[in-house]
Amino acid sequence: MTNSDGPENPEDSCRLSYEAARQAIEADARAEEEMAARADTSLRAPLYEIFTSIQGEALFAGLQQIFIRFCGCELDCPWCDTPQARGAPPAEVWCQSKPGVRGFQIENPARIADVCDVVKRILGYDEEGAIHSIALTGGEPLMFPEYVADLAASLRPFELPIMLETNGQRPDALRKALRMIDWVAGDYKLDSSMGRPLDAEARREFLRLARQKRAFVKIVVTDEATEEELERAYEEIAAVDPGCPLFLQPVTVKGESRPPSGFELIRFRALALRYLRDVRVMPQVHGLLGLK
Ligand code: SF4
Repeated sequence: MTNSDGPENPEDSCRLSYEAARQAIEADARAEEEMAARADTSLRAPLYEIFTSIQGEALFAGLQQIFIRFCGCELDCPWCDTPQARGAPPAEVWCQSKPGVRGFQIENPARIADVCDVVKRILGYDEEGAIHSIALTGGEPLMFPEYVADLAASLRPFELPIMLETNGQRPDALRKALRMIDWVAGDYKLDSSMGRPLDAEARREFLRLARQKRAFVKIVVTDEATEEELERAYEEIAAVDPGCPLFLQPVTVKGESRPPSGFELIRFRALALRYLRDVRVMPQVHGLLGLK
């Protein structure tokens, strides 16, 4: 049987699909260039610091990134490892162009143009091309979605993947910022570790949006975690995408927060594999390396 609307020759069909894919890629690249040109680099947001280090969590652990850390977060995780970025923003943003050298400052709230200059300066020292990607982190970057969108657009010319680290509770903000983000690293906060339930519908919508890009999820697990709540989390993530990588991160000891035992983590991972294909147990590693 032949399709009278389409080409009969399979080679013609391949050529047409290839041509359509090429045109789509070119259109995407043009749209990105236009967004980068339109980005308002005079926008300002409160930042805490900009520096380069080894990523210590989840999928990009072990890779060198440039970290742009935002100030402010609406949550209050008891184990928060960046409480300094949740308080009042510092008068100036501390920046470091190379690990181990003295820092310098830029104005705060920081203009996108100034942040791009700092990134350019950091990359200027990276003769080996060791830097893998840029992490927009916090605090919670999505408290400033317009800024994140224009910052990500302005960072495109550096041709590094852009990863957004977020607490996973702000789908409306993610929708605004998503276009120029390559990777979404979303947290899934357990009720037991937060001491209260968070907005489950917001979290589900967030997961659905995040999977429009490349995404992975991290759950910080304490010794309060129960199999029931973890199973609910696995089901929610699997309902969006069973192939979404999941990282079970035993909490780094802080205050009252304690990690589960290794045996419990093995059990939690095995349970997750009933729902998800790629599940890994991984603690934070940058602290072990003596790095920020
Ligand atoms: S979401 Fe992140 S920055 Fe905010 S309180 Fe929790 S750990 Fe800290």
